[in-house]
This record gives sequence, structure tokens and C-alpha cells, in this order.
Amino acid sequence: MRIVEISHDECTHLLNRVSIGRLASSLDNQPYVVPVCFAYEPNYLYVFSTVGKKIESMRQNPKVCMQVDDIASPSNWMSVVVEGNYRELQEAQYSAEKERAKERLSRSSEWWVAPLAQRREHTSDILIEPVFFRIDIQSMSGLRGIPEAE
Ligand SMILES: Cc1cc2nc3c(=O)[nH]c(=O)nc-3n(C[C@H](O)[C@H](O)[C@H](O)COP(=O)(O)OP(=O)(O)OC[C@H]3O[C@@H](n4cnc5c(N)ncnc54)[C@H](O)[C@@H]3O)c2cc1C
Repeated sequence: MRIVEISHDECTHLLNRVSIGRLASSLDNQPYVVPVCFAYEPNYLYVFSTVGKKIESMRQNPKVCMQVDDIASPSNWMSVVVEGNYRELQEAQYSAEKERAKERLSRSSEWWVAPLAQRREHTSDILIEPVFFRIDIQSMSGLRGIPEAE
């Protein structure tokens, strides 16, 4: 297998095609990573979330990283790493932007919101406060694994 860098366009194609990534935040020198669904728009990644450890962490330290991949096999894959800043979209000025991104995220959120609500009920924490945020993209890099035969 060879590993090559991919272009910015190839990175954005992957971000348009794939809707689940691993979101990393960090608080007090302790990294924290969870899978989330996202929607890509030029310069931004949009995410719909519940309040919990990741939101509390990003509210204190807005520097975040998202890793997204498409793995066909151990020697045939693409991976993109996005670095950026967390921005909550609660104010009225973001309403139109929020609606547009919500529309794109609606299909993917259906299947994780219900199980999460169930888990919160089991742990007696029934508060599910939705938070809508975006990652302002600062930088992006991508790698591709290519089988030797190609
Ligand atoms: C494919 C997929 C897509 C998802 N998409 C979204 C999304 O778009 N938005 C969203 O908010 N959530 C999504 N989730 C759920 C997400 O990964 C988190 O579990 C959830 O958001 C709670 O995170 P939290 O930081 O608020 O954890 P809290 O509820 O505050 O939980 C605290 C503790 O629970 C543990 N924990 C939490 N989440 C996980 C996890 N995923 N795996 C292992 N341990 C965990 C950690 O030890 C953590 O310290 C998705 C999950 C999957 C599998």
C-alpha cells in the first residue's frame, strides 16, 4: 500500500459524501473523542448535539478537531482531519443558517437521538437540551491509502 496526500477538493468531496466523524475536544489537557453526525458546507461543519461532556468541554476550550474517513479495506481508504473552532449557533442571527443545516442533518440524527434519550432515562438524567453548533474550519488535510496493485 502507498499513502498519498489528497487535494483540498478531494477532502471536501469526502466531507460531502460521509456524514459521521470523530469529534475531538480537549479540556485540562485531557482529550475526549466521540462520534457525531455532521453536515459540511464550505468553511463549516454543522453538528446537532445534546448537552453533555463534549459541549461543556468545547464551551471552555473551543479548539476542536474532526476526523472523517471512508475505509474500503485496510489498504484502500481516505481520511480527512479538520481543525477548527467551536461556535454555538443559539442567537437569532444564525436562524436561517441553522434551518438550512438542520434540514441536511435531519436524516442522520434520527437514529442516534432516540437511543441517547433512552440512555439518559436509564441514568435518571432526562434533560436533553439540544445544541446546534458549527466548526469554523481553520485547516484541513487528507491522506489516501492506495493498494499496491493500483
Ligand atoms: C454513529 C454515531 C453518530 C452519533 N452522532 C451524534 C451527533 O450527531 N450528535 C451527538 O450529540 N451525539 C451523537 N452521537 C452520540 C455521541 O457519540 C455521544 O455518545 C453523545 O453525544 C454524548 O456525548 P457527551 O459528550 O454529551 O457524553 P455524556 O452524555 O456527557 O457522557 C459522559 C460519559 O459517557 C461516555 N460516553 C459518551 N459518549 C460515548 C460514546 N459515543 N462512546 C463511548 N462512551 C461514551 C464517556 O465516558 C463520557 O465521559 C452519535 C453516536 C454514534 C455512535
